[in-house]
Amino acid sequence: MTFGIDDLPVRDELRGKSPYGAPQLDVPVRLNTNENPYPLPEPLVERITERVREAARDLNRYPDRDAVELRTQLAKYLTDTSGHAVGLANVWAANGSNEVIQQLLQTFGGPGRTAIGFEPSYSMHALIARGTGTGWISGPRNADFSIDVGTAAQAIASHRPDVVFITTPNNPTGNAVPPGTVLALYEAAQAAKPSMVVVDEAYIEFSHGDSLLPLLEGRPNLVISRTMSKAFGAAGLRLGYLAAHPAVVDAVQLVRLPYHLSAVTQATALAALEHTDTLLKYVEQLKAERDRLVSELRAIGFEVVESDANFVQFGVFEDSHTAWQKILDQGVLVRDNGIPGWLRVSAGTPRENDAFLDAVRELKKEQS
Ligand code: PMP
Repeated sequence: MTFGIDDLPVRDELRGKSPYGAPQLDVPVRLNTNENPYPLPEPLVERITERVREAARDLNRYPDRDAVELRTQLAKYLTDTSGHAVGLANVWAANGSNEVIQQLLQTFGGPGRTAIGFEPSYSMHALIARGTGTGWISGPRNADFSIDVGTAAQAIASHRPDVVFITTPNNPTGNAVPPGTVLALYEAAQAAKPSMVVVDEAYIEFSHGDSLLPLLEGRPNLVISRTMSKAFGAAGLRLGYLAAHPAVVDAVQLVRLPYHLSAVTQATALAALEHTDTLLKYVEQLKAERDRLVSELRAIGFEVVESDANFVQFGVFEDSHTAWQKILDQGVLVRDNGIPGWLRVSAGTPRENDAFLDAVRELKKEQS
């Protein structure tokens, strides 16, 4: 018998659990982790090199602990794209929005406290809750994956969670949550506790609708979480951020590790922000490809959830895992999120999407 996790004195709530892990398989077409398929443009790669070279000269020093230049530029990006004025004091950044969420749960969740999400949704919300000792409540969604305001508000009223997660556009289903629903759930959360409401907008740049940033006005317990992993095509950079009342930014300072954002990360993110306009053009292409996937999948005969993200959930399969394997056998990796009957495909380049559509056409032929 080899020595394993269970032989260590790990926390009880971690026993028997698996880590987050989408398969990283080496196949020709990888459409399983909602990455942006376009590599960064060469002029941006050059600019990153320049900025990182400058940063390298100072690597004997700790980086700017408050990431002031980066947060200022992120605030400018949010202001420019939403029309809602956001300043340095409203913005906080960390290593991916996963770390932002972790800091929020360390600050507002923790032992003896709870968080709720409306599932199926982004599985890391529950995993980060577990890691921070926060109790997790699985809130309800309708069969079509929308959120019923009455039922969701009722769940908030009865559980009185400390943190409410609303993911819009939602992952893995792709649908957006109407602003009216977010407002109603914010009100329900304030009446119940009051609690923090975290709107996870990781995919908002791909949406047909607008960011909920303007809702921050007058709502100090609302947080909007964003990332450069998707729209900016920079998943490898690990840069997430939030916008909220300045008091929220002050509060997360209590749990952030000092110098958590390396000088190299800050320099790279600043270079990417200089190229926002070019990067957002790729977003337009991906939105068009996403819409094409939705209509072609429907034409082939699949059910498809309306998508505001850079991925599409489709089905319905009698056995989604077998369907996943058959698509993989044709060299295309999609995602099986364990939602019975459904699979998720990320929008890739037109060629990758064609390969995927060919694979699922074959699958449909086999099934009929
Ligand atoms: N939120 C949602 C809804 C996501 O799907 C993801 C990534 N899959 C994240 C947050 C985390 O993104 P990152 O840590 O790369 O910013």
